[in-house]
Amino acid sequence: MGILRFDNVSKRYAGGQDALAEVSFTVEPGEMLFITGHSGAGKSTLLKLIQLAERPSRGAVLFDEKNLLKVRGRRVAMHRRDVGVVYQDHQLLTDRSVYENVALPLILRGMRRGEIGKRVRGIVERMGLGGREKALPTQLSAGEQQRVGIARALIGEPRLLVADEPTGNLDPTLSAEIMDLFASLPERGTSVLIASHDLGLVKRMKKRVLVLDHGRLADDISPEDLADE
Ligand code: ADP
Ligand code: ADP
Repeated sequence: MGILRFDNVSKRYAGGQDALAEVSFTVEPGEMLFITGHSGAGKSTLLKLIQLAERPSRGAVLFDEKNLLKVRGRRVAMHRRDVGVVYQDHQLLTDRSVYENVALPLILRGMRRGEIGKRVRGIVERMGLGGREKALPTQLSAGEQQRVGIARALIGEPRLLVADEPTGNLDPTLSAEIMDLFASLPERGTSVLIASHDLGLVKRMKKRVLVLDHGRLADDISPEDLADE
């Protein structure tokens, strides 16, 4: 089963080499795992296939056992609600408050104001941002900005959270804090998939690690294997 399954997935961009080649793996509900590999290994491409920002050239990506190749048109937006995305540079709206940034996905969905307020207060509290709702992103530290990005990705209660180098702009201490925050999410049944080239940080988390090498899945390391090192 699994919430996410890659079945022999290859991706070749127009005029390029294979960015992904015959990649297969399954992610269980509530599982947290990392994707690592050199620059150009295919990490971002893999995440883009999950968000339907790109389509595979061969093979199938299944989300909740549904082949994403069949998800077209209006259903693409529906699928994207199930996948929360955290970006390296968080992509917050700089002229909107923390509250508005986090609430935005729910406003776009037409949710009632009262329900939005309840949810935003809850997630802001959980992300350690209590009392910062009215601040503008530029008034926050880098770590706080990234927490807002995570809150915005989670507010719609996605089945899967994907993050592309979420600690790329943070120092080691803040990076570790953000990773611990991610590690606390699977309690709720949310699966978490994080692309990072920071091997030291990844190893310390003692979670499953997929290693990409020139588009191929070179290794699939279980937490038990990491504990042996
Ligand atoms: P990573 O995230 O691990 O750095 P990427 O998925 O960004 O790797 O890139 C994998 C390969 O695909 C690289 O060789 C890269 O140059 C190529 N690539 C990525 N995006 C595109 C694109 N839009 N068009 C053509 N080639 C691309
Ligand atoms: P409650 O659901 O009891 O209000 P919280 O106050 O902790 O719980 O969380 C408020 C909101 O935060 C939720 O409605 C949800 O939108 C979001 N949220 C928090 N954690 C998660 C998670 N792990 N997965 C998905 N959504 C979450």
